[in-house]
Amino acid sequence: MIEGLREMAVSNAASHGGRAQEGAVLGMLLAARPDLRADVPAASAEVARAVSEVNSMDPRDLQREAAALPAREPRREREGLPEIPGAAMGAVVTRFPPEPNGYPHIGHAKAAIINAEYARMYGGRFILRFDDTNPESERMEYHAAINVGLEWLGVRPDETKCTSDDMEEIHAAGGRLVGAGAAYVCTCSRDAMGRNRRDRAACRCSYDGPDEAQKKWRAMFTKSRPGSAVLRFRGDMKSDNTVMRDPVLFRIVDVPHYRQGTRYRVWPSYDMAVAIEDSRDGVTHSFRSKEFEMRAELAAAINGALGMRTPERGFFSRLELRGMPTSKRATRPLIEEGKVSWYDDPRLPTLEGLKRRGIKPEAVRRFVMSLGMTKSESTAPFESLVSFNRSVIDPVAGRLHMVEDPVRLDVAGLPPSVEIRNHPSSEMGSRTVDTSGGISIAEADAGALAEGSEATLMGIGRVRITRAGGSPAAEYLGGAGGQAIQWVPAGSHRLRILVPGELFRDGEYDEGSLSELDVYSEPAYLDVEEGAPVQFVRFGYCRKDSQTQAIFTHK
Ligand SMILES: [Zn+2]
Repeated sequence: MIEGLREMAVSNAASHGGRAQEGAVLGMLLAARPDLRADVPAASAEVARAVSEVNSMDPRDLQREAAALPAREPRREREGLPEIPGAAMGAVVTRFPPEPNGYPHIGHAKAAIINAEYARMYGGRFILRFDDTNPESERMEYHAAINVGLEWLGVRPDETKCTSDDMEEIHAAGGRLVGAGAAYVCTCSRDAMGRNRRDRAACRCSYDGPDEAQKKWRAMFTKSRPGSAVLRFRGDMKSDNTVMRDPVLFRIVDVPHYRQGTRYRVWPSYDMAVAIEDSRDGVTHSFRSKEFEMRAELAAAINGALGMRTPERGFFSRLELRGMPTSKRATRPLIEEGKVSWYDDPRLPTLEGLKRRGIKPEAVRRFVMSLGMTKSESTAPFESLVSFNRSVIDPVAGRLHMVEDPVRLDVAGLPPSVEIRNHPSSEMGSRTVDTSGGISIAEADAGALAEGSEATLMGIGRVRITRAGGSPAAEYLGGAGGQAIQWVPAGSHRLRILVPGELFRDGEYDEGSLSELDVYSEPAYLDVEEGAPVQFVRFGYCRKDSQTQAIFTHK
């Protein structure tokens, strides 16, 4: 379809009670695309098709699609991130530091894309750093999944590293903090520590001098039991920023690490690891989602106590899609209970899930860039990603016929075969469909046909209905007119379509969030490449999951 035409038809229909007007849409199209004025009949035919498609939409779907339309001004001109004040070309180093404790999701995509894009904008360097200092929850499986996800997104780091490879340096920095009196070993119980942080009261351990603290710090590497001692930063127990109330910098974890095995037992906290790593890696700018904002003060304080440089920081809003929670707390139990098959379930906002649903990396990228560095907190509906995806897949999605509950339609004078274009733009060629064995249409369409009325069988032509009801019949007229309906030939291919909905509604798992349709498609579906997008006419875009299954992507 001509770029932007569907959007014009949708917006026209939405403002005219669900019925787009061909004349009005043609006017909009020719105004936007003067080049099409050379062949107005061709443009009119395209418009007629778009209008008929849009006018046959369910009104709720139409409203949804209309609401997701971007503002009228061309988006491309405003694309791109705001400039970084004072940043010099060639001197920007950014990083994306995921913890390998889960499958990457759309929130990771945002952080990775923004940091990589800033490095690119300034001809700088982008580091992928696995923040793997929490052996209890990290796994090689997740580490690998992050690599796979970034590759899919097209985010290519200039350098990839793991924080755990710098453990000696991080331990040494901890020792320097102890020596400088900026950190002390706390042997209070977890409860007591929680209480003293809540009450803003220092514990007795904090009165230890550097020598005593040093002795206890060394013991953490040898004889102290896990949970019996932690190293705490001497922050400010009175601070309104709870992060600053003598936070834990190191703890003992006697669990094998997925890369380091049992080499280490004293592991840094997230804040300690980030402060040291960003500084030693020469990171000049770090861009993270807003929930890390409170932690920036601590990283800067740790760097300050060690005389280390702190990168500039920028924050953007966290990206969540409505009804598609990214938290492991929400999704892991559903996977364990078998309610969600795996991390590639098309209802999930994981990169695997989005990919399986048929969302393209280019669409994720454009979506993220359109959000940019805004900090306003909002949960975006899935539809806001759809308009980006549609413009990526529409030019390459072959059109196919598919019907639910097929009913045979006897057509007198039916041509024995027809040639159907695979895509309204001719580059995708056409296919020959054998109609000699007869055709079937959807039960819902059959039920709406009245005797004596006319309809257009898409790709065949106009017919007049000679018998309505349970076993309908028609006679072939040719030309076009009346409601356009799709059909499948005899010997059509049985197929399941998975239709993903919002996984959560009002914060609760929705049992009905994944539905299945039992349908029949043209045999040409079998020739579609696995993973490729198709558009089932009058239904929507799907991704071919297998020979017998497709996944509904979006309208
Ligand atoms: Zn204590």
